[in-house]
Amino acid sequence: MVEKESMVDVVKRLMDNKKQIRNICTSAHIHHGKTALTDNLLAASGKMSMKYAGSLEGGMMTWQHKDEQERLLTVDAANVAMVHEYENKEYLINLIDTPGHVDFGGNVTRAMRAVDGTIVLVCASEGIMPQTETVLKQALRERVKPVLFINKVDRLIKELRLTPEQMQERFFKIIANFNNLIEQIAEPEFKEKWKVNVNEGSVAFGSARDNWALSVPFMKKKGITFKDISKIYDMTEQERKDWSWNNAPLYEVLLDMVIKHLPDPGEAQKYRIPKIWKGDLNSDFGKSLVNCDSNGKLGFVITRIIIDPRTGRELSVGRLYSGTMKTGMQVYLNLANKTQKVQQVFIYNGIKTEQMEYIPAGNIIAIAGISADVGETITEGPEEPFEALKHIFDPVITKAIEPEVSQDVPKLIEVLRKVQKEDPSIKVEINEETGESLISGMGELHLEIIENRIKTEKNVKVKTSAPIVVYRESVSAVSPEIEGKSPNKHNKFYITVEPVPPILMEMMNKGEIGDGQFKKKDDPRIEKIINSGALSRDDVRKIWDIFNKCIVLDNTKGIIHILEIKELFLEAFRDVAKFGPLAREPVTGVLVRLKDAVLHEDAIHRGPAQVIPAVRDAIKDAMLSAKPIIYEPVQEYRIDAPSEYLGGVSKLIQQRRGQLLNVEQQDNYSEIFVKVPVAEFFGFADALRSETEGRGSFSLIDSYFEQLPRDLQEGVIKKIRERKGLSENQ
Ligand code: GDP
Repeated sequence: MVEKESMVDVVKRLMDNKKQIRNICTSAHIHHGKTALTDNLLAASGKMSMKYAGSLEGGMMTWQHKDEQERLLTVDAANVAMVHEYENKEYLINLIDTPGHVDFGGNVTRAMRAVDGTIVLVCASEGIMPQTETVLKQALRERVKPVLFINKVDRLIKELRLTPEQMQERFFKIIANFNNLIEQIAEPEFKEKWKVNVNEGSVAFGSARDNWALSVPFMKKKGITFKDISKIYDMTEQERKDWSWNNAPLYEVLLDMVIKHLPDPGEAQKYRIPKIWKGDLNSDFGKSLVNCDSNGKLGFVITRIIIDPRTGRELSVGRLYSGTMKTGMQVYLNLANKTQKVQQVFIYNGIKTEQMEYIPAGNIIAIAGISADVGETITEGPEEPFEALKHIFDPVITKAIEPEVSQDVPKLIEVLRKVQKEDPSIKVEINEETGESLISGMGELHLEIIENRIKTEKNVKVKTSAPIVVYRESVSAVSPEIEGKSPNKHNKFYITVEPVPPILMEMMNKGEIGDGQFKKKDDPRIEKIINSGALSRDDVRKIWDIFNKCIVLDNTKGIIHILEIKELFLEAFRDVAKFGPLAREPVTGVLVRLKDAVLHEDAIHRGPAQVIPAVRDAIKDAMLSAKPIIYEPVQEYRIDAPSEYLGGVSKLIQQRRGQLLNVEQQDNYSEIFVKVPVAEFFGFADALRSETEGRGSFSLIDSYFEQLPRDLQEGVIKKIRERKGLSENQ
C-alpha cells in the first residue's frame, strides 16, 4: 500500500515554493459574512484533506474565544492555512480571518501587513457600506490587492425574488461602486490594474451560508447559469447542499480566484516593500526584502501576539519577508533594541500550529521565545525597521477598572499588560499603587468585550466606572516668553509655546510623522518636515523630540552645558505633554521653544530636582498664557433607517450636540450621515433601537478631535477636575 502523504508534509513541501503560496485575509463591513466564509473554507479544506492522512481540521471553527461564539462576532483575527489544487498544482493558502466590528479595526490594519491580497465581501442586498470603504482603504494603504465576493445572493432570490436579469443588474451596480472606490483611493499605478473585472473572474457571487459560489469563468467552464441557481432554491435543503458541493462549491470558486488573481509573496514584495519599509532598497537587507529571498537577511514583522491562556506562552505571529527563521537562532528586536533567542518556530496547518526546524521567507509563521510588541521588526542585527503599524482611529473611550478585592491588584496589572499586548488598539494606563487603571478603546462595545474577557477568561473579578472621554489640551495663540527658575535659583529657562502649524498636525494625524526623539542627523522625519514648509529649515534641524504630537525645539545659541540638561528637559516636556495644565489631560499640538537658558557651571547644581520643575512650570505657564483650548473626540457615523424615522433620528442627534451632515434617501430608506461628540454618544445604540423600533443601525466612518465650543470649556474642565479630585484652580 502506498503511504498517504500527511497534511503536514504537504504544507512543508509547499512552504518552500514561493510561487505556490498565497497570503490573504478576508475583509468586509460587519455581518457581511466573513466568519461564515472562513468556516466554510475551513470545513471544505477539512473535507478535502480527508484524502491526506491524519487530518483533523474538518468542521473546526475559527472562533477561539468564548465571547465570540456568544456574540457571533469574530473579535480576533485567526490564522488558518489551507491547501488547494488549481490547474494540477497545489497551493498553500494562509488566511487571516479579520474581525467584523469597526471597534476592532486595529486588527484589520495589522492583518493587512501580513498579507498580499484580500477577499472583500459585500452583502448582495446591502451593497457597499461605510466599513467596506474603510477596509479597502486599509488594504490599499498597505498595497494589498483586493478581489470581490458578493455574498448572500440567496437573499436576492429568496427574500427579494429578483429575476436573473435583476440580479445581474444589482451585481453590476455593486461592482461599479467597488471600482469607483478603487479609483478614488488607490495610488495612480494601481487605479486601473486593481479594478475587479467580472469577465476575468476577479469577482465571485454566492452564498457563504449555502455553500455555493460562481464566477463568470467558472460558469463558462461548467456551463452553469443564474437560472440554475434560482432553481436550487426550489429544492430541499439536502438536495441544495448536494448540488452546491457537486456543481459550484464555494471553496473551489473562491480559492481558484485567489490563486489566479492575488499575487504570490515573491511578486507582491517587489511593490509592497518600498511602501511599507523606508530603508535603502539597494542595501543587502533591502534586496533580501524586495526579492523575498530565503537565503538573504532575516526580516520578520510581528502582526499579532497570542498568549496561551493555559501555559502563558507568548506566540508572535507575523510575516516572514526574507531570510529563513530557524529554531534556536539569535535575533535582534529593532524597536526594543535587544537580542533574544527563538525557541520554537511554527507554521499553520488548518488552525493548528506545527513546529518546524526552519521556515523560509514568504510565509505567515509564529515564533516562541520572543517577548516583543506588535509591529516589531525582527532581524539578525540592527536594521531599518518597517513603517509603524498605525491604526486608522485612536482609542477615545475610557473606563477606570479596578479589582473587586484589593489582593487582586497584582493579578489585574498582569492581565491588563497581556490584554494590551494581545490587542494593541486598547490603551492601558496602570496605576501600580492603587491598582486603579484606565483602559481606553474605540467604542463602548470594544471595552465591554475586553472587560468580559478579563472576567471570564482571565478570572479576575473587576469593577469598572461608567465610560468617560479623554480630552486633549492645546493652545490657540503664541505665548509671551516665560521664565522658569530652578528651586536653587541658579538655572533659568526662557520658553515660548505656540500651536503646531496645521500642515504638520495633519501629517502627524495621518501617521506620516511619528513620535520619538530625534537622535540621528538623517532622521527621515527631518526631510518630511522641511518639505512641508511649515517650519524654517533652521528650526527643523533643532527639533529635539516629538511626543503626543507636541514638538520641542532648541532655539538657544552658545549655551555650553545645554546638551547635558537635554534629557531632563525632555522628561519635563513629556510630563506636561502627558498631564496638561488645564485638567491634567494629555496635551496635543503644542510647539515648545527653548529660547534661552542660564545654567549653573557645576553639574551638581543643575540636577533633576532643579531642572525638571523649572522647565515643567515654565511650559505650563506658557500654555496658560497662550489661550489654552480643549479638544474633544468626535465621531462621524452613518445611520441607516426607514425614512419614516428620519425625524426621530435627527432629534436624537441634535439632543446629543450632533450635526446632520447629509441625508440620502432611497426606496423609503434613509442613509443619515452625522457627526457627534463622543462624550454625548454613550448609550446611543439603545436610544436608536427604541426610536426606530429596532430597524435602525449605525456604523463608524471617522473619528478625530475637534475644538470644544468655548462656552462649554469651563464646565468641562471643572467636571474633569472634580472627577480627578483636583483643586479647582491649580
Ligand atoms: P461577519 O460579521 O462578516 O463575520 O459576518 P458573519 O459571517 O457572522 O455573518 C453575519 C450573519 O449573516 C450571520 O447571521 C450569518 O449566518 C449570515 N450570513 C452569512 N453568510 C450568509 C449568506 O450567504 N446568506 C445569508 N442569507 N446569510 C448569511
